[in-house]
Amino acid sequence: MSTYEAKLQGREEIAQGTMAFHFEKPAGFIFKPGQAIDLLLPDAPDLVAGSARHTFSIASAPFQDELVVATRMRDSAYKRALSALPIGTQVRLEGPSGSLTLHSDRARPALFMAGGIGITPFMSILRQAAKDRLPQQMVLLYSNRRPEDAAFLAELQQLARQQPQNFRLVATMTGMGKSQQPWDGATGAIDEALVRQICAEIAAPICYLAGPPAMVEAVRHSLGDAGVNDDDIRSEEFYGY
Ligand SMILES: Cc1cc2nc3c(=O)[nH]c(=O)nc-3n(C[C@H](O)[C@H](O)[C@H](O)COP(=O)(O)OP(=O)(O)OC[C@H]3O[C@@H](n4cnc5c(N)ncnc54)[C@H](O)[C@@H]3O)c2cc1C
Repeated sequence: MSTYEAKLQGREEIAQGTMAFHFEKPAGFIFKPGQAIDLLLPDAPDLVAGSARHTFSIASAPFQDELVVATRMRDSAYKRALSALPIGTQVRLEGPSGSLTLHSDRARPALFMAGGIGITPFMSILRQAAKDRLPQQMVLLYSNRRPEDAAFLAELQQLARQQPQNFRLVATMTGMGKSQQPWDGATGAIDEALVRQICAEIAAPICYLAGPPAMVEAVRHSLGDAGVNDDDIRSEEFYGY
């Protein structure tokens, strides 16, 4: 892993309580879609030793000229310091790290399963795949409580419309009772029935999971129960949720 300096260029809310942070891409920084960086914040009053570093998957794709991370804005010391960073601040990045990257056997489909902000590594993969016009088949199961919480949903819906042969999106909501928005898509968790249904439609996928640890563990069980071999499952747990 190498260390880089990068300037914060902008930030915006991309779903309720979820922000994207845009950094300039440092010269020489090379990464694969699906990889992560450690973001080290400059000194801030309530950051105690060791808490100035967090790991984030890179949501932007390598072809883009910026680095974007996205996060749920919980009330932690780190997130308070991150949201207070003035635009133009230099931060330290370490990376890239992680191996939640697309398999090289293009004949095998990819089945991505994201819980909430676990969507970030798959955004990078899907954006780069669309740019490269990868013919590989990809399916994304994307679970959120409500459409209001679902980061990048409109972009994903557009990617699915643009590449109907290669990319299928199944977004599912688990808490529509608390939503103010209309939703005519799937509801309920990513469970064994959904996984079985998708696995019956695509041959021998490599499965990728990202999200809160409890979600990753539950979906891993569902995949096992649906007969997916453990060797074909890759996962990343986002601690702290
Ligand atoms: C590879 C990777 C990629 C990630 N990508 C993203 C991303 O794209 N977006 C995003 O929002 N988050 C991502 N995360 C999670 C992120 O690093 C933070 O943990 C998360 O945002 C919570 O931070 P917080 O400041 O809200 O909570 P914190 O106050 O930092 O943490 C809350 C609690 O989480 C637990 N915890 C924290 N770190 C660890 C750890 N390493 N091992 C075990 N328990 C731990 C502790 O119990 C801690 O008290 C990623 C994590 C990993 C490992």
